[in-house]
Amino acid sequence: MNKKAVVVFSGGQDSTTCLFWALKEFDEVIAVTFNYNQKHKKEIECATEIAKELGVEHHILDMELLNQLAPNALTRDDIKIEAGKDGGLPSTFVEGRNMLFLTFAAVLAKVKGARHIITGVCETDFSGYPDCRDVFIKSLNVTLNLAMDYEFVLHTPLMWIDKAQTWEMADSFGKLDYVRNKTLTCYNGIIGDGCGECPACLLRRRGLEQYLKSKEGNK
Ligand SMILES: [Zn+2]
Repeated sequence: MNKKAVVVFSGGQDSTTCLFWALKEFDEVIAVTFNYNQKHKKEIECATEIAKELGVEHHILDMELLNQLAPNALTRDDIKIEAGKDGGLPSTFVEGRNMLFLTFAAVLAKVKGARHIITGVCETDFSGYPDCRDVFIKSLNVTLNLAMDYEFVLHTPLMWIDKAQTWEMADSFGKLDYVRNKTLTCYNGIIGDGCGECPACLLRRRGLEQYLKSKEGNK
């Protein structure tokens, strides 16, 4: 049984929790971060720092071409971060991003002799990204296996849990404070609890408050 895994890792709450999950499940873990010229270089720095602290082999792949294809609020200063209107996609959406990231992660995984690929995508906090859905991940798993004649296993530990349960998972590893203080989710590039006002901070904080309250209630 191959116990080597590649984690798609952005340095945010979700992928850091996935990294801890992978460190528990697998003997050898490699983290891969994509540089697509994010507005906030801090995201890459943050991911690098965490990987270093945890002693995880870390690769940063250059995906700047993504910005050529899909200019959006995460990469361009002149586009504001906005929630989707009328059920539309938010302005942070990069078309096909997860598909591309997972495909490149798979190429790296095969080069490294790893069969397992972990991604923090989640259908519960579904903000309309079609390539975060479970059905897509299953479909891509089949496609990658056929494309490279290799048996990848795509893992999505967060697929069916909400933000509060993601905090609970980090806590179950004894890493709640680590994830809370060291990760970057904020669209304004502020580490830890963030700016407190952008959509990512609001979602993150709501989940944390909900989890801490339920934990308190269970005492
Ligand atoms: Zn924020």
